[in-house]
Amino acid sequence: MAQLNRQIVLDRLPQGALRPDHFRQVEAARPRPGNGQVLVRTLYMSLDAANRAWMQGATYRSALKGGDVMAGAALAEVVESNTHRLAVGDLVFADTGWQEYAALSADGLTKLPRIEPLTNLVSVYGVAGLTAYFGLLVCGEPRAGETVVVSAAAGSVGSIAGQIAKIKGCRAVGVAGGSEKGRWLVEELGFDVAVDYKAADFKKQLRDACPEGIDVYFDNVGGDVLEACLFAMNPFGRIACCGAVSQYDGDAPRAGPRGIPGLVVTRRLALRGFVVMDFEGQREKAIEDLQSWVQSGQLKVHEDVIEGLENLPSALVGLLNGANRGKRMVKVQL
Ligand code: NAP
Repeated sequence: MAQLNRQIVLDRLPQGALRPDHFRQVEAARPRPGNGQVLVRTLYMSLDAANRAWMQGATYRSALKGGDVMAGAALAEVVESNTHRLAVGDLVFADTGWQEYAALSADGLTKLPRIEPLTNLVSVYGVAGLTAYFGLLVCGEPRAGETVVVSAAAGSVGSIAGQIAKIKGCRAVGVAGGSEKGRWLVEELGFDVAVDYKAADFKKQLRDACPEGIDVYFDNVGGDVLEACLFAMNPFGRIACCGAVSQYDGDAPRAGPRGIPGLVVTRRLALRGFVVMDFEGQREKAIEDLQSWVQSGQLKVHEDVIEGLENLPSALVGLLNGANRGKRMVKVQL
């Protein structure tokens, strides 16, 4: 086993948009696990829009600062164990950071089933799938026949949320950047219609796509798209507030939404924010449902796998700019 540990460090916090040169690669000694710890080898690093939000300040985790090994979660394999709770060969999904090896406390690590392909543990049976499942079903409460709009619809969470809306008998409208992604959503993933938020006539496209208004809006992006959807919400509509990717890649919130207080009251809207960890206790049932939909072919899994630890910075910058379709991850061990 290699004695060195390649790491990607966040060299300095970005001012404005994130670029690959905000990171640098270093080599450190491979860490040794202490008592109650395991040494894990990173297999697939999950790329998440939230990685960028962690550079803006504290969220549900502490803020990143220049000089830190870049934070991130990965599917990893135990290669040394100093605890009876995990054995060599076990798989975990853990906050490893962007590096080849990490020594982690076994507390809070859960052994994952070895589902093939392993990448599915990062996508549909990982944070993306669970976020889509709980966000839509618990916060959105969709009912058959209703119109569900999903933003960042061609991304990892959005592509699954829209398909679950279809499985539940809803009309699924995807909001994504560009007509190519829109075509993919409709032709490959079965969305009813797609709307291009980058087009000049976005608001008209949205109105045409939702002739009976919006009952559930699964919000991945915040900003102008949230504002446009708010004005199209039906009375007693639900907005599942999952994230605000339009606001992450900069220094301060830059856009909308305006009109929230008046609209929320008069249309009796429910806006519910959530973090996927809130639903840890219901994980098993969610995985069971997701597996049955994947096996029956109702839920298509699209993964965007990039190879090589050194490509993590450009892969994250690309994700923030919409270069991905489905779940983006980096295969660290080639
Ligand atoms: P992702 O959707 O796979 O990728 C991000 C996508 O956002 C890009 O593909 C891009 O697609 C779109 N985007 C970028 N800038 C945008 C803008 N200004 N306006 C509209 N769309 C834009 O990434 P992800 O990691 O799965 O994250 C999606 C959302 O889920 C994020 O808001 C994230 O914070 C949230 N999330 C929340 C939880 C939770 O527990 N609440 C857990 C996981 C993720 P286009 O080409 O369409 O622009």
